[in-house]
Amino acid sequence: MKKGYRMKKVIKAYCEKCDKDIVFATSVEKRAATIRDKKFEYDCIVAKCKECGEEVYPAFIDKTNEIAKYDKYKSIAGLLTSQEIIDLRKKLGLTQVDFAKKLGCGEKTIARYENGSIQDKVIDQSMRKIKTSNYQECYITRIIHIKFENFHNAVKNINTENDSDNENNNFSIENTVCHDRNHCYC
Ligand SMILES: [Zn+2]
Repeated sequence: MKKGYRMKKVIKAYCEKCDKDIVFATSVEKRAATIRDKKFEYDCIVAKCKECGEEVYPAFIDKTNEIAKYDKYKSIAGLLTSQEIIDLRKKLGLTQVDFAKKLGCGEKTIARYENGSIQDKVIDQSMRKIKTSNYQECYITRIIHIKFENFHNAVKNINTENDSDNENNNFSIENTVCHDRNHCYC
């Protein structure tokens, strides 16, 4: 267990040897794994029964270990890890479903990748490209907005030429905000 980490409530797991729910202790061990012919080691959280020392397998630890194992493979294979996919998606301001739609995948695909499933190279490249193209798109939309706002304000100025109290007369680019939230992530 990590230093400084305290469990708020005691979580129990079933121990086969003791044939009951027991309290367990955790440690981190290097474990060997093979995925798609690649052999490697990853940091595995190991839970052991405090009464008999037998290894136990609480679901949430199993899940964490699965993600850690697949993430290790992904980083070896040069693919985005689950965490990197989460970070990328959040940076783009997309939900899992929206991100999947942008990639042309099924709705639950991103949820699976974020939970350890391995994406193929093509999807991996597409995800990285969305990262780039959205920033480009963002830049372009910003220019369009600024130009539109300029035009809009120019028209306003003509209409209110003699109205010195109108604050819109003093339009500045700094005040321009991007309103295209569906397509723009600035
Ligand atoms: Zn036990």
